[in-house]
Formats: sequence, C-alpha cells, structure tokens
Amino acid sequence: MAIIAVPQLSDNFAYLVIDDDSRECGVVDCAEAAKVLEEVKRQRVNLTTVLSTHWHYDHVGGNKDLLAAMPGLKIYGARAENGRIPGLTNPIDDGDEVRVGNLRARAIGIPAHTNGHVAYYFPTLRAVFSGDTLFIAGCGRLFEGGAATMVQSLGKLAALPDDTKVYCGHEYTVKNLEFALTLEPHNRALADKYQWAVRQRGEGKWTVPSTIGEEKQFNPFLRTDSPELRASVARIAPGLSDRVAIFAKVRELKDHY
Ligand code: FE
Ligand code: ZN
Repeated sequence: MAIIAVPQLSDNFAYLVIDDDSRECGVVDCAEAAKVLEEVKRQRVNLTTVLSTHWHYDHVGGNKDLLAAMPGLKIYGARAENGRIPGLTNPIDDGDEVRVGNLRARAIGIPAHTNGHVAYYFPTLRAVFSGDTLFIAGCGRLFEGGAATMVQSLGKLAALPDDTKVYCGHEYTVKNLEFALTLEPHNRALADKYQWAVRQRGEGKWTVPSTIGEEKQFNPFLRTDSPELRASVARIAPGLSDRVAIFAKVRELKDHY
C-alpha cells in the first residue's frame, strides 16, 4: 500500500491511495484531473474511487473530468454538500465506511471550514486525510462554522492515535509555523519543525505528512492550553480563559497575519 502526493494548482495536494493486493486506487481530492490521471498511469493502478473532503473548487474541480475519463468512478463526499460536490455518486455521513479495494476508511465529519467537511481515516495505513480542517501547524478558515464547531472537529482528529500520519490539503506549513512562533517563541518542537520545513522547501520537497502526535506539540490551534500561548494571547486580548475563546482569538490573529 502506498500514499502518493500529487501537487495540484499552486499549493494543493491530491493523494493517491493504492491497495497493493487489488491494484485499485482512490484519489483524495482532485483539482486537476490530467495530473492525477498521469500519476495513475505511471503507477499502473486502476482508479476506482474519489474521496472528496469538501466542496471548494481546489478540492473537487477535477471531479467532472475524472468521471468523463472513467465513467464507473465512485465519488464520495458529504451528503450535506450534495449539489456542491461535482459528480457526487456516493453521499456519506459521519462514521460511514468507504473502501478502496481492500482498504477501509472511516469518514469523520469535521465541519466548520465548510458545513459538511469530512476527513478520511485509514486505520491500517495509520493515515488521515484532513483536507482544509487540520493543516500542518495550522487549521482552515471558519467559512461555514464557528469557533466552537472547529474546536470540536479538531478534537476528533487530535483523538486519533499519535502515530497517525496527517495528509492535509495545502502546502502552507512554513507560513503556519512562522505564525505559530509569534505565539510560542520558546517552543522547541515548533522551532525545530520550522527549521526543518524551511530546509525541506528549500530542497523543493513537501512537508507532508506530519503526525497527530507532532501536531499536538506545535500546532497553535491544538495548543489552547499552552501557558506560553495563553500568555501571548493575553498580551493582545486580556481576560480570555475558555478554550473556544482562546481558539477564536488565535484564528482571528491568523486571519490577519
Ligand atoms: Fe477549502
Ligand atoms: Zn483548499
């Protein structure tokens, strides 16, 4: 089994998920069908499934072209986003199982960036595809849900085993880490990750995946209990104490960073 990142547009990722036994493959999100189909051909696999995380065009803009190229394709996505996800054939709800060959994934409903946003968790691959909800050292903007909803959604992902690899929708890592450092300048894991990410990008490499365990060490949106982060927030907005309020403030600061 293999997971292969396929760059899309300027900073998006599509991911091929390959089941070695059946040589079946699924693609998580697709903006540009041609690039995905090229990689499918190179891997000599049979693309059967699309797993859409949410309706934004940079994640589903290639669905129609994929469907035209392979008419039997199954396209999964949130029932709540039916009508907005092009070509949706298999609407799903939180907790539903989806299959790629013999690989099984669980859809996890993680609304807030969009109302129906889902993650796909493959326990046997120890991998989660988090779309635009959990980024490396960041999280998605609150377009269709509030801070409390996002905190809950991120909590579902943070509850996965620490060694779960996180494959997110965009290469935003360096910027995210720069922002995180403004709140936790003394966080060693954060500083180390920043150095690593800058080096990695300098060599033309991607920063995906991270792991859930790592994210807990440096992602400011999962660190609303950190004393250093809280002190930094208190300097800007005194008097906030509950997690959701702290989260909302951090999200707002990031929006304007
Ligand atoms: Fe998005
Ligand atoms: Zn996106």
